[in-house]
Amino acid sequence: MIVAMLETATEDQIDAVIDAMTEAGVDVHRTTGKMQTILAAVGPTAGLDLSKFEVLPGVMHVHRISSPYKLAGRAFRPEGTVVEFAKEVHLGGAEVQVIAGPCAVENREQIFAIAKCVQAAGAHFLRGGAFKPRSSPYSFQGLGIPGLELMREAADAHGLLVVSEVMEIAQIEPMLPFVDCFQVGARNMQNFNLLRELGQIRKPVLLKRGIAATIEELLLSSEYIMSGGNYQVIVCERGIRTYETATRNTMDIAAIPVLKKLSHLPVVADPSHGTGRRDMVAPMAKAAVAAGADAILVEIHPNADKAVSDAAQTLFLEQFEELVKDLRLIATAVGRTL
Ligand code: PEP
Ligand code: MN
Repeated sequence: MIVAMLETATEDQIDAVIDAMTEAGVDVHRTTGKMQTILAAVGPTAGLDLSKFEVLPGVMHVHRISSPYKLAGRAFRPEGTVVEFAKEVHLGGAEVQVIAGPCAVENREQIFAIAKCVQAAGAHFLRGGAFKPRSSPYSFQGLGIPGLELMREAADAHGLLVVSEVMEIAQIEPMLPFVDCFQVGARNMQNFNLLRELGQIRKPVLLKRGIAATIEELLLSSEYIMSGGNYQVIVCERGIRTYETATRNTMDIAAIPVLKKLSHLPVVADPSHGTGRRDMVAPMAKAAVAAGADAILVEIHPNADKAVSDAAQTLFLEQFEELVKDLRLIATAVGRTL
């Protein structure tokens, strides 16, 4: 159930509605938008009598939410969520963001060269895995905390924010000082215990779509984080597994407008994992910006074809520079900035 308050509702009226909802046995999540306050009830809402809330002072309207996700749905924040980072960087607003970096942090020289290039391109986010989910247990598993230390140092030296993947609950606490945004990878999209723990912190989470997950499942996973009170969730289309073998995954561009319609959460597109092929990354990145993505996530490396992981889909730094220039044109064409 969603209770939309009048623009003129007072704090006392809002508090009274929250009390009435709590008394009815549900958890109340509040969002204060530019125009109005919205109160969402989660929990046992089936037996609730809506008319009881409709008549309370300050209430504009009350309606049931038919989708299984309540907090991730558009109705909770009709104007859209803008996730705020340090340095006045916003994800979900008019500016399209670029998140770039290696698949994995490999060494100091590599991450510093990449950070320099990301800054020069005018982007604000450095990505890189320190804990890597690899299909084979014999593949490079990441540098761990020393890798995060290097990435934080490189990011700070170049005025960038850090995005890195968390694979298990025990890593959250030690990662906190190094990251500005936690990434939950495709393989962990339905690691519900991890999602719940990320709901307890107050740092943005970039949640990737699972390789066989529907859009509804992705939004339900975001709901796990939001129901803990952490509303700073960003969802990411990174390709899904289909019968097609020409690309590593099938980049679901349509998921971008679908997510924007169903949800208020910012949407990121990852054409690197989405295609698995260096030559397909730029066209799909451009398509994603044209389709309404709020950010593009790409893998880049000075020696792309020698990258320790995901070499085939990694852009050389020069290719990345060109891509950002092209994305800037497309962003302008669709009424955004970059
Ligand atoms: C990554 O971003 O390097 C990664 C492992 O992504 P995904 O979880 O989408 O495979
Ligand atoms: Mn990768």
